[in-house]
Amino acid sequence: MFDYLIVGAGFAGSVLAERLASQAGKKILIIDKREHIAGNAYDYYNEDGILIHKYGPHIFHTNSKEVFDYLGKFTPWRPYEHKVLASVDGQLVPIPINLNTINELYGLNLNSSEVETFFASKAEPITRVQTSEDVVVGKVGRELYEKFFRGYTRKMWDLDPSELDASVTARVPTRTNRDNRYFTDTYQSMPLHGYTYMFQKMLSHPNIKVMLNTDYKEIIDIIPHKQLIYTGPIDAYFNYCYGKLPYRSLEFKFETIDADTFQPTGTVNYPNSQAYTRITDFKYLTGQKHAKTAVVYEFPQAEGDPYYPVPRPENAEVYKKYQQLAATVTNTYFAGRLATYKYYNMDQVVAQSLTLFKKIMQSSEQHLNGKATPILQA
Ligand code: FAD
Ligand code: UDP
Repeated sequence: MFDYLIVGAGFAGSVLAERLASQAGKKILIIDKREHIAGNAYDYYNEDGILIHKYGPHIFHTNSKEVFDYLGKFTPWRPYEHKVLASVDGQLVPIPINLNTINELYGLNLNSSEVETFFASKAEPITRVQTSEDVVVGKVGRELYEKFFRGYTRKMWDLDPSELDASVTARVPTRTNRDNRYFTDTYQSMPLHGYTYMFQKMLSHPNIKVMLNTDYKEIIDIIPHKQLIYTGPIDAYFNYCYGKLPYRSLEFKFETIDADTFQPTGTVNYPNSQAYTRITDFKYLTGQKHAKTAVVYEFPQAEGDPYYPVPRPENAEVYKKYQQLAATVTNTYFAGRLATYKYYNMDQVVAQSLTLFKKIMQSSEQHLNGKATPILQA
């Protein structure tokens, strides 16, 4: 009898498996319908021996010391600060928009306070910032919004920024300094030997059994277990009883290039041209030494593997109904980006899983003391 059956061997499932096995001595079966562990963070060496990310570029960054130290138990880190250029008006300029972006784009020589005045003169007054359009237009005005955000967002989500929560474009800030980094988190590093290696270490505990190529529906009634942790799409778990939750998908096109690098930086975004949103050159991310490099193009799709929850009010409403239903299911927990329908980065999923682990531990202690209270889902 397994103490936990965990569905999904991505960050959410693997962190919970590792914690429950190593800290609570629980017996775990973790399964995935894919042929590999690591979920969307899975990486592998392609036929040319270049380390690539099967589900698009994954760059680790966090402000949480707890998350960074926790993952650091399973991998050495390689410091890496991601930089992105946007192809705009025939130039490659830094994104997030910063002082360098404005000076290069308009042939100016502004300083920080001058660019602040520049943004203020372009910004439209927005009384209540609600949508992804409001965020950008309210900070830098419509022209920069059109150049950098509107086309990219429409391509990525098949929605106008005015139809998406503010949180989506708010992921990309505006700066008045010359900081060309994509992220400003305290910890910015990549797992030295790749994500899959890190997951192998996480799941190497003798109490953890891994089963791949298996949908949980095939085994849930056959394999005895006390509790279930589910990290797949929440609407699928409940047979879409409140309708389908939209998840945006992507198609990836990989190429090996017979050159040390393909482009001047890790990622180049194409807001207003091309069918793809961005091209990523893996060797910047992985630091691998190799005579060739590999790149991936990302083509947004409506159908396909569910990658991105779509943050907008009507979807939040539907998710809320599933969340309420989830709270009524006994001995079952829901975690991760798909099961909690949150546009979470890797570190946020790790933090969410560490929190759920602590709650499970507290609740089982209370249970032993006869003071059990139900766990509220994240
Ligand atoms: P997943 O990794 O999706 O794992 C869920 C697993 O459940 C999957 O392996 C799936 O096969 C399995 N599963 C689902 N249904 C079933 C079933 N019925 N039976 C069995 N198994 C099932 N985050 C960052 O921090 N930095 C980045 O740079 C970054 N880039 C990204 C780029 C792309 C293109 C995408 C799509 C995501 C990116 N992310 C990034 C987000 C990151 O991928 C997620 O935060 C993280 O992988 C979520 O982990 P998870 O365990 O919740 O979900
Ligand atoms: N975005 C944009 N232009 C860019 C980069 C981002 O319009 O050059 C918007 C777009 O809506 C995108 C969102 O900001 O989906 C979040 O960008 P991020 O790079 O965080 O996306 P992710 O890496 O999660 O795909």
